[in-house]
Amino acid sequence: MNPKRAPIAELARDYREDRAEASDVIGRTMDAIERAEPGLHAFVSTRREKAMDEARAADAAFAEGRPVGPLAGIPIAVKDNMHIRGEPTTCASRILKNYVPPYGSTAVDRLRAAGAIVVGKTNMDEFAMGSSTENSAFSPTRNPHDPERVPGGSSGGSSAAVAAGLVPAALGSDTGGSIRQPASFCGVVGLKPTYGRVSRYGLVAFGSSLDQIGPLSGSVADTARILQTIAGFDPMDSTSSDVPTPDWTQALDAPIREMKVGVPKEYFVDGMDAGVAERVRAGIDRLEGLGCRIEELSLPHTEYAVATYYLISTAEASSNLARYDGVRYGLRAGGDTLQAMYRRTRMAGFGPEVKRRILLGTYALSAGYYDAYYLRAQKVRTLILEDFRKAFESVDVLVTPTTPTPAFRIGENIDDPLAMYLNDIFTTTCNLAGLPGVSVPCGRIGGLPVGMQLIGNHFDESAVLRAAHHFEQDGGFDG
Ligand code: GLN
Repeated sequence: MNPKRAPIAELARDYREDRAEASDVIGRTMDAIERAEPGLHAFVSTRREKAMDEARAADAAFAEGRPVGPLAGIPIAVKDNMHIRGEPTTCASRILKNYVPPYGSTAVDRLRAAGAIVVGKTNMDEFAMGSSTENSAFSPTRNPHDPERVPGGSSGGSSAAVAAGLVPAALGSDTGGSIRQPASFCGVVGLKPTYGRVSRYGLVAFGSSLDQIGPLSGSVADTARILQTIAGFDPMDSTSSDVPTPDWTQALDAPIREMKVGVPKEYFVDGMDAGVAERVRAGIDRLEGLGCRIEELSLPHTEYAVATYYLISTAEASSNLARYDGVRYGLRAGGDTLQAMYRRTRMAGFGPEVKRRILLGTYALSAGYYDAYYLRAQKVRTLILEDFRKAFESVDVLVTPTTPTPAFRIGENIDDPLAMYLNDIFTTTCNLAGLPGVSVPCGRIGGLPVGMQLIGNHFDESAVLRAAHHFEQDGGFDG
């Protein structure tokens, strides 16, 4: 199944008009996953039996004319840091070995309540820390466009599953770019909604002031459909916002003529791949051709974003990950004393990148360094937010590259954490400022996809989705 040929709306129509059966679609999806997996490694676990039971239940509902949800029978994949009640969540970490959550995540529960069928949990960098899925405790996911290259990360299993045509959509999480960067590397659409737009209840926390759940899919319309289902207030997440959710699928077609599009000059930097800059510039020209008014502007604090992000996210991670101590979750290593048990569990359970982040974050929060690092990072974060505030006084959306390069080779950056972190220079700003951002494909370099990022004002997913949709309609994503 190719997501471009079988987007969610088409599949839903086939069900309605009796041209397809959910058990057949899910059965074929599971077969395709089984065939692809040995070379792809997009999934940590699959749910063949449960998914087939759910598909048969959907078919029975169709046959009896019972009301079904808007996503009835639609196969989706879910990043393995979101809970399904009673089924394992691993976060691609050894420390969650055999952990089974007693509750489900709101975003996944809402998709399932709308009828979607989860076919499996996708691979990721351990605890969502990384940009390549190479930090998975299992094996790295391969990029469907070139198996020698990474699919991006940390939601690399989700982006690869969509790009390989195994599912029309998947959920990812984005703390500093983990939906948009893999979407860009795999040539699919990936949306990080506004902070607070989607409940994180049941999402394993990484950086709580940054984390957000969002969809990856083959088209903007399907992205809007998934957002529609997962967005909205949830009393179980105190950071979820009680703001109305517009009808995004309806909003897509509203014209974008006269839309004001800002191009921040700091997002075209020395050292980035010249081909990426050129494809994104060509994309901006296409938006201009669609009637958008393009304006160059400046977001002067952009250069501090990576440093700020790696202080705040590691500080929050060091605190969030303190709970994995061998007592309450998953793995427990033996030890003569409680301290020894903690130490041995954490030594054995966490991979090297997670340990590096915990150390960095603990250091940034420690007495004597707190003011110099953590507090200062919080102040710079405000300056970055102020830059955006100013920009959105004069433009509706901002356009930038999603990443400075196309997908890199497996192993290429693994021994150089700084090179890996620099991958995030164009994506972390959205998280620091809490803004919505979408990555859409805007061409290729030697067969490898290039992503263009559209950033909107708080809670203005409509603007970025509309611009992205018109861009897609006008000559497609490879144009
Ligand atoms: N690549 C970034 C990091 O390693 C972003 C991760 C994410 O968004 N979860 O932290």
